[in-house]
Amino acid sequence: MNTKIRSDIEKIRYALLSHYGPLFWWPGNSPDEIAIGAILTQNTAWKNVEKAINNMKKATLLSFPAILQCDTTILAEAVRPSGYFNQKAKKLKILAKKVCQNGGKTITDFLKGKSTAAARKQLLDIWGIGRETADSILLYADNRRIFVVDAYTKRIFSRHGISAPDADYEIIRKMVENAVPADPAAYNEFHAGIVNLGKDFCHKQSPNCGACPLKALNPLPGQLT
Ligand code: SF4
Repeated sequence: MNTKIRSDIEKIRYALLSHYGPLFWWPGNSPDEIAIGAILTQNTAWKNVEKAINNMKKATLLSFPAILQCDTTILAEAVRPSGYFNQKAKKLKILAKKVCQNGGKTITDFLKGKSTAAARKQLLDIWGIGRETADSILLYADNRRIFVVDAYTKRIFSRHGISAPDADYEIIRKMVENAVPADPAAYNEFHAGIVNLGKDFCHKQSPNCGACPLKALNPLPGQLT
């Protein structure tokens, strides 16, 4: 990776830190709640995940043993606000079965003692868990040094000439991991800042470059509004 790309990524990270300060993402009272939220947030806004998690809390379903034991239709009803609720209930059931095999109870038990690469493979082998979900669980629920790439990262990086619009997930992940200090806290804040920037300024249509904290970092021609 060339030094300009590394420098551009760090400039974006510092601009986000300066604008937003610490964001304390991901919200969740336990690693299990974070892992469950990582599945529920697929293809939906976080406010819908909050409703689903609140339903699960009220029904005492916010643990993997409880998910494993409960009726799938009851679980699906609890997670209904997050959309694709039948599919998400099935995904949670499958993850719970994996977590609880061999006497485990928590996502921490499930990932314990494994290298990050092995833990990632273990998650990716589970139906319904893709790279963004696996990496969210590894970073936010298990404090692993791995960066989460999402649609906002791809959009912002491509609009600043760091990566191609269709760049592969792994290429972008490695670019960030080579540029940012090797610290889960740094990855955590960077990803959170990118998500906020995507929501607040870097919209898919009509990005608000004029008010954006990255305005000085040379968005490609045609982006400024
Ligand atoms: S809104 Fe404009 S300046 Fe801000 S990140 Fe997007 S392209 Fe860059």
